[in-house]
Amino acid sequence: MAQHSLRPCKKMGCPELTRDESGYCDKHRYIYEEQQKKRWNTMEKDRKSARERGYDTRWDKARKGYLIKHPLCVECMKERRYTPATVVDHIKPHRGNKQLFWDRDNWQSLCKRCHDMKTARGN
Ligand SMILES: [Zn+2]
Ligand SMILES: [Zn+2]
Repeated sequence: MAQHSLRPCKKMGCPELTRDESGYCDKHRYIYEEQQKKRWNTMEKDRKSARERGYDTRWDKARKGYLIKHPLCVECMKERRYTPATVVDHIKPHRGNKQLFWDRDNWQSLCKRCHDMKTARGN
């Protein structure tokens, strides 16, 4: 890996030079570490709330893979419009049913507009 060049410490008023990736000198590196810790905690919180909604990283990966294979909104296509899909929708609402949730035959690509319309219709 290329070595970082010598830079002044990011802590204001600190005269030290550092090569550390954090941009802080040894004495002030803790500032960076605390920032990282905070960032990690927020990420962890986001991950947790996503899990609680039933959308874990597994779904995220599956969803992205599905959208790559089915990039266009199926509802729009029925009207001969070609809209990039951003949502993988469950044709039959899964209501927490794992089998229905993971059944790819029950998935369809929708654009946000069509998905919102479907949600507004209540199914
Ligand atoms: Zn410093
Ligand atoms: Zn659409």
